[in-house]
Amino acid sequence: IAKRSKDRHIVLFEPSMHKVVERRVALEAELRQAVAQGEFRLHYQPIQDAGTDSVFAYEALLRWQRPDGLMTAKHFIDLVEETGLTNEVGLWVMRTACRWLKSIHADGHAGATKVSLNVSAAQIMNINLPEQMARICQEEDLDPAHCIIEVTEQSAMVDPERAALVLQELKRLGFSLALDDFGTGHSSLSWLHQYPFDVLKIDRSLTAEVGQPGGSSKMAVGILYLSQLLGLRVVAEGIEGQTQMDALHRLGFRLMQGYHIGRPQPDWPAPSIMTAPAPSLSGGAGQTLSA
Ligand code: C2E
Ligand code: MG
Ligand code: MG
Ligand code: MG
Repeated sequence: IAKRSKDRHIVLFEPSMHKVVERRVALEAELRQAVAQGEFRLHYQPIQDAGTDSVFAYEALLRWQRPDGLMTAKHFIDLVEETGLTNEVGLWVMRTACRWLKSIHADGHAGATKVSLNVSAAQIMNINLPEQMARICQEEDLDPAHCIIEVTEQSAMVDPERAALVLQELKRLGFSLALDDFGTGHSSLSWLHQYPFDVLKIDRSLTAEVGQPGGSSKMAVGILYLSQLLGLRVVAEGIEGQTQMDALHRLGFRLMQGYHIGRPQPDWPAPSIMTAPAPSLSGGAGQTLSA
């Protein structure tokens, strides 16, 4: 096998490339099996509201329970998409997260907390997505207003017009919309008023420096102010320390997410008993794809 390099010379297929392909093919087969055997899990990471001292939402993050350990989303999410498993996995994520939030709400004191879901490029290009998601909410008896759909600019850019249609329909059905990872990629400000977003998530690459000696907060603050003018809620992602958190708070940030506030984990106690000791590991996280 040969492949054409950029300058149009033929390069030989090196043994190292062969290894990469081999590994990929194996991983693909394992991924299909994972779907069939229910090896996916969701972990939930809190987005804290410093203004009300409550959990604004929990973001559901996909995990793959493999024999050799737990794999985080960043290591396999692209493969899910490339293997055409996006829709199946995506709808499982939706249903599992809805059930989990219901179990958290069952306490009766936490009705304001939402669940935030990531959707991929293929999902946001799927014209049937809004209807499919609304149906799941209906079946699980959860108001779509409790679901935030997170989409990245990169995903929406694949086909901006189609993404607009899907986002508008999701909005019409009552879902909240978030623009994720803002600050990576183009960071086009026009997205913010062209699309019906409710929440903007500022990527950790823009919050990392805040509170550091000599670190700049100009970009983060600029985006915060503009978003506020446009009526959006802003989440600062990647909060890894107290100094950073305090600095962001002083700059006017209210919604914050990161390892310092809470790592993604399989379960959380209902927010009204948030001060209680260690959460149990039972509940929604144990559900499988066939559930
Ligand atoms: P994201 O939506 O921006 O999620 C944040 C990622 O950063 C997560 O990685 C999370 O574990 C990690 N993170 C959270 N707080 C901190 C922090 O303080 N410091 C650092 N360094 N990292 C932090 P994860 O779980 O590996 O997910 C990676 C990406 O995979 C996500 O980025 C999201 O785009 C995608 N993803 C995750 N779950 C799903 C899913 O169910 N469906 C789809 N389509 N994509 C998903
Ligand atoms: Mg996200
Ligand atoms: Mg993000
Ligand atoms: Mg990110």
